[in-house]
Amino acid sequence: MTNFDRNKILDSVLDHIGGTPAVRVNNIPKSEGVVCEIVAKCEFFNAGGSVKDRIGKRMILEAEKAGIIKKGDTVIEPTSGNTGIGLALTAAVKGYKAVITLPEKMSQEKVDVLKGLGAEIIRTPTEAAWDSPESHIGVAKRLNAEIKNSWIPDQYANVNNPLAHYEGTAAEIWSQCDGKIDMFVATTGTGGTIAGIAKFLKEKNPNIIIVGVDPNGSILALPESLNPEGIHSYQVEGIGYDFIPKVLDRSNIDRWIKTDDKESFIMARRMIREEGLLCGGSCGAAMVGALKAAKSLKAGQRCVVLLADSIRNYMTKHLNDDWMAANGFSDEATRKVNEDKKL
Ligand code: PMP
Repeated sequence: MTNFDRNKILDSVLDHIGGTPAVRVNNIPKSEGVVCEIVAKCEFFNAGGSVKDRIGKRMILEAEKAGIIKKGDTVIEPTSGNTGIGLALTAAVKGYKAVITLPEKMSQEKVDVLKGLGAEIIRTPTEAAWDSPESHIGVAKRLNAEIKNSWIPDQYANVNNPLAHYEGTAAEIWSQCDGKIDMFVATTGTGGTIAGIAKFLKEKNPNIIIVGVDPNGSILALPESLNPEGIHSYQVEGIGYDFIPKVLDRSNIDRWIKTDDKESFIMARRMIREEGLLCGGSCGAAMVGALKAAKSLKAGQRCVVLLADSIRNYMTKHLNDDWMAANGFSDEATRKVNEDKKL
């Protein structure tokens, strides 16, 4: 939980990480025939714009406390961008150097924010297998060996990844809902978010249904029969993997839902257009999963869905009509709402 007062002066912008709002999603569930309440945990309001600010801050502060790093050292991390932004933001405030290895697929907006925060960026081929020397993970390992006084936080295995969500995000959700929550839905990348939150919520109430969302092309979902397409590329950023990260404890996840690019981007645009929630592409996937899973809930029950990042990361991607058309993601639903509202 946050232990500072948002209405007073904060010591640094790092105090604006955590304590994000939980906002009722009003229009989309109604038009999709979902009768339960849907609440969005809006992680895009964190200082750096995503849920991963929480782990960027926590991994550095805990390493500092443990004497693993000291001011002036170099933090190196392979990431889809948001963990990099969280780390680079913390590094900028606390006086560390940041080197981020980032697959080519990730947006220019993320690169520009990382550069603005002073990070050095190395792009790696999106198609490289995670354990190959050219992958973002392989390159980070090589740089770690080459750069003196460097350290890899390793979000895939660092306990402070799920712990940031067990102690922070989940406790906030529990308190914001006054303990009344029937279902929780989140997308999975490293899995730290869902694993930490699921552990906390199941300890409070084992009947809460935990739903993981995994894109087609990734193999995180269980049972394995849900992943018949195997490993292939897709456009939604920050979710899915070609290996099972150590921090992704799948034992508390009751159900998995697979999503594809087109439905995710269209839903992300609807979240903006119909709810005013300026969230990113994985949030569209999360909402698609939430709407499917929450069909099993009754009126009066509550489903919380986590929105991981902000549209700021995708201004030239799915926010842009030409990009949507060029990628074959035509957007009938948003067009219809716009037309209806004109009448
Ligand atoms: N959505 C986005 C946009 C992300 O950047 C990430 C982190 N890679 C996630 C979802 C998933 O978070 P986690 O790594 O905690 O599973």
